[in-house]
Amino acid sequence: MRRPGGSVINAIIHDKAPPAMETQENEMIRASLQFHLLIDADESESSARAPGHTTGESRRLEVPVGHPSSLTFTDPPQVLSEVQAGLDDAILEPFEHEGRSYLTMVLPSNHSVRVNSALAPRVTVLRIGDWVRLNAGLLLQVALYNRPVIGPPGTEMLGKECPVCRLPLSTETTVYTCARCGAGLHCEGPERDEQERLECAQICSTCPRCSSPINLTEGYLDEPSF
Ligand SMILES: [Zn+2]
Ligand SMILES: [Zn+2]
Repeated sequence: MRRPGGSVINAIIHDKAPPAMETQENEMIRASLQFHLLIDADESESSARAPGHTTGESRRLEVPVGHPSSLTFTDPPQVLSEVQAGLDDAILEPFEHEGRSYLTMVLPSNHSVRVNSALAPRVTVLRIGDWVRLNAGLLLQVALYNRPVIGPPGTEMLGKECPVCRLPLSTETTVYTCARCGAGLHCEGPERDEQERLECAQICSTCPRCSSPINLTEGYLDEPSF
């Protein structure tokens, strides 16, 4: 599956509209790997005091998948789905390279944002685990949240081969959908007799088609960075 994606550079230079609307299903698969910016609790006293910002939800900013978004330098900071030209916000856009996820951050010309304690260049590629110190001093950590898509195969997947066992995917099975390439791997569980269960996703640590890691548990991923 090819993933359409806007480009930050295009968005800045050509003021391009985000890519056309996608099907809900594709949207869900793409959103199964999502960057979060986690706000360091010790460093965000002012946002913790603000009314309505005391829940765990406010401790993380979710970065939209599939199109550029903007990070405001307000207190507390916000991630907005739209990029407005000429604003003093940072522009964020996730991308993938060789099975790994990265987050591009484009900063306004006047900024004092630091990444891992060094002053950030205007265009920075963030990796999982990186620390971003915003202009106001607030510290954010870059994290990737995995929300595996497991369920009946989508209509476009029916009849296609599972890349592990080569059996065609049928309506009765349960599949894990690779967030990066869209491949469907059998992922049957208690709904099927143990003897007949196809557990292709469970026995693979990486997707045979695109080599990206398979993680069937929802939560933050700690990908090795190199
Ligand atoms: Zn299979
Ligand atoms: Zn894959």
